[in-house]
Amino acid sequence: MSLLAETESIVKQFEFTDNDVNKSVKEFLRQMDEGLEKDGTSLSQIPTYVTGVPKGTEKGLYMAVDLGGTNFRVCSVKLNGDTTFNITSDKVAVPKELMRAKKAEELFAFLALQIKKFLEKHHGDHFEAHIRRRMTVSSPDGYRDEHVFHMGFTFSFPVQQVGINKGTLIRWTKGFDIPDAIGKDVCALLQTEIDKLHLPVKVAALVNDTVGTLMAYSYTSPGSHGAVLGAIFGTGTNGAYVEKLSNLKKPLVGEYDTSTGDMVINIEWGSFDNQLNVLPNTPWDEALDKETPNPGIQMYEKRVSGMFLGELLRLVIIDLMKNPNVSLFRDENSSTNDRRSTTDIAETSDLYKPWGIDTSILSHAAGDHTPKLSVLRDTLQENLQISAPAYEDAQAFKAIAGAIGRRAARLAAVAIGAVVLKSGRLSDGTNDPIDVGVDGSLVENYPYFEDMIYEALRVIDGIGEEGAKRIRIGLAQDGSGVGAALIALVARTMEKNAPTDEVLGELRTEAKAAGSKDTAAATTAVSDESDKPGVTSA
Ligand code: ADP
Ligand code: MG
Repeated sequence: MSLLAETESIVKQFEFTDNDVNKSVKEFLRQMDEGLEKDGTSLSQIPTYVTGVPKGTEKGLYMAVDLGGTNFRVCSVKLNGDTTFNITSDKVAVPKELMRAKKAEELFAFLALQIKKFLEKHHGDHFEAHIRRRMTVSSPDGYRDEHVFHMGFTFSFPVQQVGINKGTLIRWTKGFDIPDAIGKDVCALLQTEIDKLHLPVKVAALVNDTVGTLMAYSYTSPGSHGAVLGAIFGTGTNGAYVEKLSNLKKPLVGEYDTSTGDMVINIEWGSFDNQLNVLPNTPWDEALDKETPNPGIQMYEKRVSGMFLGELLRLVIIDLMKNPNVSLFRDENSSTNDRRSTTDIAETSDLYKPWGIDTSILSHAAGDHTPKLSVLRDTLQENLQISAPAYEDAQAFKAIAGAIGRRAARLAAVAIGAVVLKSGRLSDGTNDPIDVGVDGSLVENYPYFEDMIYEALRVIDGIGEEGAKRIRIGLAQDGSGVGAALIALVARTMEKNAPTDEVLGELRTEAKAAGSKDTAAATTAVSDESDKPGVTSA
């Protein structure tokens, strides 16, 4: 078989037909319901204790921190109450040795110290006023709650959440390993270290990044309804949505506000259909699963997200190169190659290393529309040490990468479509937009990822052309900072039953008296390159 024919046959195996999409949506809805009824199902459907989404009118100054796999980000967010916000943020890499510290205390003390530095740098006046007050107050805990920053803590590791600011660490992932922390409440661990430094900060909310995305997008997207879904397509994939409390059949342990009748649910959809009732399963999906530390788990994520698509492509390419009947990335001599050079791969090429190629190469492949694919061929040469790849090689690579990316986008549409259907919004008798906030490098950077999602949404029974037009997918800007701040606000409101625009009243008066220094800081002092100073998003 020729390279072309072999490539076509592989591409075919990655096809995910309209019929497959529809079957999968039905199964997704079934597994969602199952997860609302009991524990131990493939979709965990974890209640987040957040019982509503913002309207865009929320006001106040909040703090947010985000411990991801690599960086620790500290920010203060001023919600202006008109769907806009100002954000000030600093980012620091977590030292490798702290990721494997003996005691949890070592890591959390480092985090608290970064919060202290941030406050000194950006909110100096408030910080000093607080220290002064502490010195003059007779009882050590005599200072009032109003002086305290309420902070949302985005913690991107698996936790068993039992309250809006309480959750125990189930296990570490992404290279962290501090056994001492397992089973402990991560909010309490952070609060203890904050208190040791006498910082005016309360860990008010524990936030999952999907929930942050949902909140941030609801706040910034104008409309009579909040967003129905917040979704991540980055290293991993997951989503959070708003569910009716009455549909949540399994017991809830912690306290929560029942007045809205809603509960935000963290679907944990990376594990959709671990049993493979409907998910596609090529020989390369099987091979990839065997290479992971958790075979049989996160089966949807392994077909959709950034951590896996590059490896999936690598496995297919390696297989194709081993095929004696086709010639991929090799030729007899320089005369057969349009670059007049013999194609060769360095033995040290990342193509030969498990997990050696990054998903961004799929984006490069999809984005190259030059007549002879010269951009992709240069990328192959630079990134994978393939010297003088032929046009035919690049064509095969692009076709296979494209098939993997397209299948991922169509699978993404399954989850999005199912949640939109579940929301009931399509039959609300209006023509209002149905907002879906998304975040993550894959959806942000893969060319036409969103278009391919829409293409699949249009063929879903119950959505169709008309329904798909109403679905408005948008990137949640600064999702983790704004989302965590909004959840801190929700927590604060629950605590005090205070109207949302009254929170931190005293602090704002103070800020005004000091010539609105906080606002000034928000528009100038940004040291994280990815954050735009004084972002006003609408
Ligand atoms: P996180 O999920 O840790 O918050 P990101 O949203 O940045 O971080 O996602 C990182 C993932 O996105 C990695 O798996 C990486 O391979 C993938 N990625 C990075 N850049 C691109 C790109 N240009 N196209 C597709 N995937 C990308
Ligand atoms: Mg992220």
